Amino acid sequence: MTVIQRLFTAVFGPGVERDTREWRIECPQCGHNADLWERGGVRYKASGTKWTLGRCSACGHRGRVKIHRP
Ligand SMILES: [Zn+2]
Repeated sequence: MTVIQRLFTAVFGPGVERDTREWRIECPQCGHNADLWERGGVRYKASGTKWTLGRCSACGHRGRVKIHRP
C-alpha cells in the first residue's frame, strides 16, 4: 500500500480499495493496462475517464496514461 492508499483507507474505510480495484490504468502507446490499486493509485467515488501523468511498465512510455472503468 502506498501512503496515499493508507491515508484514504484510514479516512474512508475499506471501500476505497474495493472502488479503486474497478479502475484500470491504461497506456495509450501500447494498450497495456493494469489494476490501478496495484499500481499505487486511488480512485474513490469517481466517474468518467481521467488522464494523468504516469509511466507504462510494459513499454516505458512516459506521459499521459488513461484511467478508466472497463
Ligand atoms: Zn505502454
